[in-house]
Amino acid sequence: MSTAATRLELFTAVPARPLVVVAHPDDGDFLAASVLSAWSRQGAAATLCVVTDGDAGSDDATLPAGALAAVRLEEQRRAAAHLGVGDVRCLGFPDGVLENTLAVRRALVRLIRTVRPDLVLTMDPTRHWMGRGYLNHPDHRAAAAAALDAVFPSARDLRAFPELFREEGLAPHKTRWVLLGENEVPDVAVELRPADVENKLLALGEHRSQFDAGPMADEVWRWARAAGARAGVELAAEYRLFDLADNVSQRDGAGPDAEPPARTTDWG
Ligand SMILES: [Zn+2]
Repeated sequence: MSTAATRLELFTAVPARPLVVVAHPDDGDFLAASVLSAWSRQGAAATLCVVTDGDAGSDDATLPAGALAAVRLEEQRRAAAHLGVGDVRCLGFPDGVLENTLAVRRALVRLIRTVRPDLVLTMDPTRHWMGRGYLNHPDHRAAAAAALDAVFPSARDLRAFPELFREEGLAPHKTRWVLLGENEVPDVAVELRPADVENKLLALGEHRSQFDAGPMADEVWRWARAAGARAGVELAAEYRLFDLADNVSQRDGAGPDAEPPARTTDWG
């Protein structure tokens, strides 16, 4: 969390097709439920992608493999419905042992080229811990790192995973904005209405196999008010923003028929 003195810029753009990428069912509701609610009521058609199957989220040795994954995906779909999000995808990688492999990146490139988001929201892949009491889950870092690597450069580059275009017709796609949550130095805030915070609590409340969301309510409201105060509004959610539109090293990925600009540096 940033200090009270930090002033956050309001991010007022409403993405038409935001894509949230997280490791586990429930991560997206801690990370982005309130902003998904806010964007949905303003017309966005969001996609929530869960990279693992969530099957490791229990200490019950009697549960058969895959049983918890099915429960958690259903919980995630119900949670997303509170936010106006009807498109929930699970990439099905094994929970607890996720790494930022080329297989994960390729699956995310396929998703990005299919959904063609204008904004990707994920966690901060550099975050190893928070405060004294929380070590970040390695799956969170791996999913976020893979998401960023998929956004840039692989989803944009025709010659990255060329079979995706050749065999599946998935043309390159450049994402305009990236937001990272749970970042130590957030620089933007998305303004919320009280209903967005209430919807976040309803979404969190669906993950009954994992936790009781009831006692979280005060803290969720406190987070939203604190971020709002830093942005000069009543309620907000805070993120770190990357706007890739103006970066000259990142050609626009207009498609396989577009002439790529001459590459005069090795940045690309
Ligand atoms: Zn998680």
